[in-house]
Amino acid sequence: MITSILSRLTKVVTRSNDRWMACCPAHDDSSPSLSVTQSSDGKILLHCFAGCSIEEITGALGLSLNKLFPDNGFTHRDYRHQLKQSQYKEILSNEQLIVALAEAEIKRNHRLNSENVARHLLALSRIKKLEVLIYV
Ligand SMILES: [Zn+2]
Repeated sequence: MITSILSRLTKVVTRSNDRWMACCPAHDDSSPSLSVTQSSDGKILLHCFAGCSIEEITGALGLSLNKLFPDNGFTHRDYRHQLKQSQYKEILSNEQLIVALAEAEIKRNHRLNSENVARHLLALSRIKKLEVLIYV
């Protein structure tokens, strides 16, 4: 996924194995102000130093937030105690991050596209189920 994101950006500069700078696609950017970071668990973090929101950046790239957070194959079966508590916690924090991003967009009066609305709702329902598993 990271190569597919980088291929859509211009003036990509490699900073390290998992960090790049590129021109932000969401504003008129002549010198790279978009930071792209891949975390060890595969999440892709985008940050525009000029202040574009994640929704604006992914929108300009033609991506949904979903693409930044690999679906960890979490299915209904996994809600039974098949995973370690630490795995549930990791999935929970991933889902909470999606909710936080979505809510930050809503607070800024940005409308989420339908794919992101659906992902937001999925995250909320997963959190509800996960919290039961983790805190009982
Ligand atoms: Zn920007």
